[in-house]
Amino acid sequence: MSNSSFTSQQLDLSDLTLPKEKTYGRIVLTLAVIVWIVLAFTLVGAFYALLFGIIGWLGHGLLAAHLRAESVKVSERQLPQLYDTFVRVCAKLGVSPMPSLYVVQAGGALNAFATKFGGRNFVVVNSDLLEAFGPSSPEIEFILGHELGHLKSNHISKRILFAPGILMPLIGPAYLRACEASCDRHGAFATSNPQGATSALLALSGGKAHGRILDAGSFADQHNEERGFFVSWHELSSPYPTLSQRVAKILALNNPHFDTRPARHPLAYPLALLTPGGRATSGGANAMIFIVVIGLLAAMAIPAFQKVRTAAQEKTCINNERMIAAAVQQYTLENNKAPAAISDFSGPGKPLAAFPACPSKGHYEIEPQADGTVKVTCSVHGGHSY
Ligand SMILES: [Zn+2]
Ligand SMILES: [Zn+2]
Repeated sequence: MSNSSFTSQQLDLSDLTLPKEKTYGRIVLTLAVIVWIVLAFTLVGAFYALLFGIIGWLGHGLLAAHLRAESVKVSERQLPQLYDTFVRVCAKLGVSPMPSLYVVQAGGALNAFATKFGGRNFVVVNSDLLEAFGPSSPEIEFILGHELGHLKSNHISKRILFAPGILMPLIGPAYLRACEASCDRHGAFATSNPQGATSALLALSGGKAHGRILDAGSFADQHNEERGFFVSWHELSSPYPTLSQRVAKILALNNPHFDTRPARHPLAYPLALLTPGGRATSGGANAMIFIVVIGLLAAMAIPAFQKVRTAAQEKTCINNERMIAAAVQQYTLENNKAPAAISDFSGPGKPLAAFPACPSKGHYEIEPQADGTVKVTCSVHGGHSY
């Protein structure tokens, strides 16, 4: 692998976002807008969306407060080497104003993320990444570049607006994977050394101790070799491209051997269709969106159920009216006069063994007519002549 930078030949600052991110983004946005409109027009949906929006906002505010108060804010005086790297990467990617950068100890997890609260942008790097690679390393440049890519592409704000679309199977995860792939290109553009990009990704897979000595090519080839049903299903339902694919995409910038699009197992698609998308914003927000969708379904299902129930009650009541009218007519025929009271035709051994009750608790008024028909009126369901 050459040590030359690929920024000048293969990557251009104006062309880091992949076309498929834009295409999938438009589909996801369309689906999301439909869901938001339905939510806005159903009272229950709007209520849940508002309630969980407020809960999500409060939770996010607490997370931001934790960062601001408990994590180390990087500055000229605090971790100055890392600060220099961050200034350099922000300038290279044209991110201005500079977000706040924080370092947080997270129990050994190799992770970094970008977030936003109250109009302020944050980039957070776990301390283990810093310890593994060093503050001025190409790996840190790649990681900072990737996270700045999320902020530059407005991924954080979009995840809220796009959330219902992101929850859809197939297209939701496909959109998230495209976002990550675009951000890897931002990271690759940000680093001065192509190997930094791959060894940062290799460390995520193989651990920080060996990230730099693992063979990137062999790892990238795993992407072409592992094409079975389960790997395909995993790929289709995952919000991230697989690490072997991400390494392959970086290597492909310099080496066409890695520029492959291996096919997926066809049976994986129907199964992925049954696997909801995820990671709309964070774990908590995902649960929130899930509940919103359930609320929306309930909002649509409950009136439909009530409608069916009302129709069934009316049908029963009209049946009752018909039975009452028939019993009155039978009594009239047998006795040559209309009944004077309900007890005349209703009771054991009489035309109507038991007087029926309206399922909606209506009261019946019975009016035998001169022409022999009987008008039965329910106080709830109205009158009919029989
Ligand atoms: Zn990312
Ligand atoms: Zn009735």
